[in-house]
Amino acid sequence: MIKAIRGMRDILPPESSRWQWVESVAREVFDLYGYKEIRLPLLERTELFARSIGADTDIVAKEMYTFPDRKGEFLTLRPEATASVLRAVLENRLDKGAGVKKFYTMGPMFRYERPQKGRFRQFYQINCEAFGGEAPELDVEVILLLLQILKRLLLGEMRLLINSLGGPECQEKFKAGLGLFLINKEGLCEDCQRRRTTNPLRVLDCKSAHCQGILENAPVIRDYLCSACAAHFARVLERLDYFKVAYEVQPRLVRGLDYYTRTAFEVVAAGLGAQDAVAGGGRYNGLARELGGPDLPAVGFAIGEDRLLEVLPEDFGQDHRRRVFVAAMGEAAREKAFTVVQELRHQNLAGEMDFEGRSLKAQMTLADRLNAAYVVILGERELETNLAQVRPMRNFAAQAQDTANLTEVQGGRLQVKQEQVRFEELVDYLAGKIGPQAEF
Ligand SMILES: [Zn+2]
Ligand SMILES: [Zn+2]
Repeated sequence: MIKAIRGMRDILPPESSRWQWVESVAREVFDLYGYKEIRLPLLERTELFARSIGADTDIVAKEMYTFPDRKGEFLTLRPEATASVLRAVLENRLDKGAGVKKFYTMGPMFRYERPQKGRFRQFYQINCEAFGGEAPELDVEVILLLLQILKRLLLGEMRLLINSLGGPECQEKFKAGLGLFLINKEGLCEDCQRRRTTNPLRVLDCKSAHCQGILENAPVIRDYLCSACAAHFARVLERLDYFKVAYEVQPRLVRGLDYYTRTAFEVVAAGLGAQDAVAGGGRYNGLARELGGPDLPAVGFAIGEDRLLEVLPEDFGQDHRRRVFVAAMGEAAREKAFTVVQELRHQNLAGEMDFEGRSLKAQMTLADRLNAAYVVILGERELETNLAQVRPMRNFAAQAQDTANLTEVQGGRLQVKQEQVRFEELVDYLAGKIGPQAEF
C-alpha cells in the first residue's frame, strides 16, 4: 500500500467540515474589511523566497522543498505566502491607483521541518496583506481584523504579543549593537555563531534554549528606534488601547523572516506554548523594493490553520445540516425514492437513499449513521395509497424538542410518532420540518 509522505496528512470528514467553517468565517470577515481573494501557484522560482525571506533564516537554509525542474531551473514549493502575494501584486500591477490594496489568500505551504504534534510539512495558512498604506492605523486595522476572525471562531483565551522592529536604519544600528553583544559569547549554537556576524537578528529566533538564555541580557530593539519608528509604534499601541485590545509588548519578538519592519505581532492561544502562535504578522515596507519593485509599504498576517483547528472547541464547525433519508422497499419504491431525493435536493434539502436493495432494518441503520433527521419510508403499500410514512429520528426529535412528534411510552422512553404524508405534499412537508424556515 502506498502511504502519504511523512509530515503530510489527509484532512478527512468530519474534520474537513471544521476547516471549511474556519475558511468561510475568514472569508466573511475579509469581505467586511474590503479584502479580495488572490489564488496563487504553489510553485515559485527559488530566488523569490531566498531574496524575500532571507538566506540566513531557518526556512531558506533548511526547510524549503527546492528542486530543479526538467530544464534545470530551481523551483520551490512555497514555504509561506507573503512573497508570492507581493510577486503577484507587482507582476500584475495591482499596486497602481489610489487607496490601500487589500488581498487575502488561503492554502497549503510546505516546509521540511521535523514532524511533531501540530506541525506538518504541508500546512495551511490564511493570509492577509494590505499594500500602499503607511499609517499606523492600518497596522491596527489588520490586527483588529485578525482578532475578529479568531473571536468569531470562538477561540478562547488568546494573547496578542507585539513589538516594533524599526525601519531599516534602526535595524542596522540594532544589528550592530546585538552583534557586538554576541561577539564574545560562549556556547552559541553553530548557526548562531555564523549569524552573529551575518545577521544577528536571526539569533533572536533561534530555537536552542542555550542561545535563548544568552539573549536574556541582550540589547532590545526598542532602545534603537528612531523617533519616527518610536512614534509609529506608540500610535499603534494607543489605538489598540482605544479599542480595548489587550496586548503584551515583547521586546524580543522578531518573527522568523527577514522582511519585517516596524510592527510585528503574534497571537498565541492559551494552552499552546509561546512557540505555537496561531497567527503572526507585521509590516514589511521594504520587501517590494527588495524584489525589484517600487517603494510599497505593506502590512499583513498569516493564520496557521492547522494549529488554530487544534485549539478551537471540538464541536465547532461540525456538520449540522439536517438530512432526510428515503428508505425504499422494492424496485418500484426505489425508483420513486430516487425521484423524491432529487426533488429534495432541488429544494436545497439534503436527501439520501440506498441503491443497493438493502433490508429496511439495514436502511434504518444507514439513516442513523448519516445522522438523518427524518426517514421517509416507501413500500408497495405506500405507492398504492399515495401516502409516504414520515418518521422523525429519535435523536433529532429529542434535540428539536419536537413534543408534537414525541410521546413518552412506558419506562420513560421517548417514542417518535410516525406521520403519513401525501406524495405531492412530501417535499413541502419536509421543508417545513428541516428547511431554513423551520423553527428550532
Ligand atoms: Zn542558536
Ligand atoms: Zn526608524
